[in-house]
Amino acid sequence: MSHVRTVLGDVDPASLGRTLVHEHLLYSYTGAEVDHRCAFDLAEATERISREVADSARDYGFKTIVDLTPAEVGRHPQLMADVAKRSRVNIIGTTGFFPQHLGLPHWWRLQSIDEFKDFFIRDITEGMVYSGTKTGIKAGIIKIATGMDSVNPRPAPIGPSGKRIGEYEERAIRGAGRAQKALGCCINTHTDPMDYTVGNPGLDQIDMLEEEGADPSKVIIGHAFISGSTEQIRAICDRGASVEVDHMGIPWRHGSVEELDAKLAQHMCRLADGGYLDRMTISYDRWFFNPRGASTDLNPQLANEKVPMGYLYTDFLPRLERLGFRAADLDRMLIDNPRRLLAF
Ligand SMILES: [Zn+2]
Repeated sequence: MSHVRTVLGDVDPASLGRTLVHEHLLYSYTGAEVDHRCAFDLAEATERISREVADSARDYGFKTIVDLTPAEVGRHPQLMADVAKRSRVNIIGTTGFFPQHLGLPHWWRLQSIDEFKDFFIRDITEGMVYSGTKTGIKAGIIKIATGMDSVNPRPAPIGPSGKRIGEYEERAIRGAGRAQKALGCCINTHTDPMDYTVGNPGLDQIDMLEEEGADPSKVIIGHAFISGSTEQIRAICDRGASVEVDHMGIPWRHGSVEELDAKLAQHMCRLADGGYLDRMTISYDRWFFNPRGASTDLNPQLANEKVPMGYLYTDFLPRLERLGFRAADLDRMLIDNPRRLLAF
């Protein structure tokens, strides 16, 4: 029998309830951990995050949250476990890395494909390491990522494979494919919206994972709805993978919430009409806590920190319903599909 691996142990997939497959309890870019302005009180942060998570479970039924924070972006296993205990919400931790333009620090650039594979497997079967200390708290999903940084959005350069995948990203992705083949767990990915303007990064990631024996039916391609066309998203689903609708209420790479929300809703309805409802998941990609100093022009307070947890029901579902998408369809994306994808 298969299970879903949470930070407090394995649970029955039937018990997940509404599941957000891509959020961040604590989000802190690599390097911030040594910045005076980003120091924070862990107990206070745990308290604040736990309250928000518990409230969203009570008010909106979000009973499971995947903390898709990559290992080098402030991933904090103990905080996840403490939040899970206090909120009584299932929290699933992640093994994996950000794109090399945003993360994958030097140490990891020195590792081989099999060393990445071993790292992912050990995070999932033995527990994650935090700042040099083994925590025994296990990850339950792998993340891979490609694309440029967000300071100056542009398509990623062509890498050694001939795809828009960097040299180090490629080793991480191939390692993830091998680890997935060994364990059968889910892989969720970060694709960059700019890369959809010059190709289909979701297909590139699936190609590379499949070359290593990964099962596309356990792969979720993230961020495909931001600037991908319906045809591009459909092409990803036709390879057997699933996709993630994200950034509702967070106008990432768009001028307004209205502009992006309208686009997301339109894609969702077209895909549902085309018979792809069982391939879609949905999540905010929200930052519950970002330990950083005051906002500046170069580092403004981002919408990822401001979107309310109920936005999906207060604002986004009404928009979907006007287009004929039903609340029951949304529950298939929140309950049925994550249950199938996250179990191994
Ligand atoms: Zn994210």
